[in-house]
Amino acid sequence: MVNCFAEQFISVKNQQDIIDTIRILNKNKKKHFILGGGSNILFTKDISGVIIHNKIEGIKIIKEDKLTATINIGSGVIWNDFVKWTIERKLWGVENLILIPGTVGAAPIQNIGAYGVEIKDVFKNLKAFNLKTGEKKIFSKKECLFGYRDSIFKNKLKNKFFICEIEVTLQKKDNPILTYENLKFEFKNKKKALTIKNISDVISEIRKRKLPNPNKLGNCGSFFKNPVINKEEFLVLKEKFPEIKYFKKNEKIKLSAGWLIEQCGWKGKKINSCGVYEKQALVLVNFGGASGLEIKSLAQKIKKDILNKFNIKLEEEVQII
Ligand SMILES: Cc1cc2nc3c(=O)[nH]c(=O)nc-3n(C[C@H](O)[C@H](O)[C@H](O)COP(=O)(O)OP(=O)(O)OC[C@H]3O[C@@H](n4cnc5c(N)ncnc54)[C@H](O)[C@@H]3O)c2cc1C
Repeated sequence: MVNCFAEQFISVKNQQDIIDTIRILNKNKKKHFILGGGSNILFTKDISGVIIHNKIEGIKIIKEDKLTATINIGSGVIWNDFVKWTIERKLWGVENLILIPGTVGAAPIQNIGAYGVEIKDVFKNLKAFNLKTGEKKIFSKKECLFGYRDSIFKNKLKNKFFICEIEVTLQKKDNPILTYENLKFEFKNKKKALTIKNISDVISEIRKRKLPNPNKLGNCGSFFKNPVINKEEFLVLKEKFPEIKYFKKNEKIKLSAGWLIEQCGWKGKKINSCGVYEKQALVLVNFGGASGLEIKSLAQKIKKDILNKFNIKLEEEVQII
């Protein structure tokens, strides 16, 4: 956690609140910034203008048949509460995304993903308000332009639309996704039944072992994206660094950013009040009292070392404001 102040802070609880807030923004010609749970943002300065804080609740099944259920979720619902809701009802599709912090509305922004699943796999559409015109628009899956930790809302439409609800379609029939090697390994070794509850429990255990709890040790999860390179570039690197950790991603190769950072000696390193988490080099942590600028400076040092050693330009997953 870092300290930061905003000129004005408005919590929106329903769609009328958003419409009223848009009027305030337009009338006073104020800048705005949308805040969910704040788990993917590093603030390095105070915010001039209005912070719009999302508190829109509600989860309901809007359509179902023998095989599927389509759910409408208010964007301020805590993502993990929604995942637990689906597990209780044995609706398959997001159980691998358990324990990802933040709100439902932010989930499509970076197409959240973990353990072989991304939100785009279950996504149907979302409704959002244009913060300039006040118009409400439905975005289909295609229009969201989802990519690896990416969507249109991180690029062309960044900070332009307020997402107020999303719809996902989940499966009623068992549909375990065990593409991730360490997940497969856990089930094979412990001979556990492949139930939705067991899968989410195993993933929760792995996540708790690997990642620090942001309520106890300030962090934003993975600070950098895993770099994706082409096969030719990869072969050059593999010859120089035979141990390099990677995953095949269609025609491309995804490198483990954590491994690259570890090789540069950063794992467990501390600079004043911030540093690199001792159990996972992809996570930068605030031991207490570090400013956003100090954390940004640490990230820049890491990026420089990776560029010098591997000729790879790391990209932040976290949004630096
Ligand atoms: C310990 C830890 C583990 C994590 N693990 C994962 C993981 O496994 N996979 C993964 O993908 N991510 C992970 N993350 C990142 C983070 O949880 C996700 O990015 C999450 O979706 C952020 O939600 P939030 O509500 O906190 O968004 P915020 O951090 O508040 O906002 C993120 C961005 O979305 C915008 N935004 C938020 N809400 C709205 C809205 N309603 N309308 C329009 N724009 C909006 C904000 O302006 C900002 O640009 C992790 C983070 C932590 C701290």
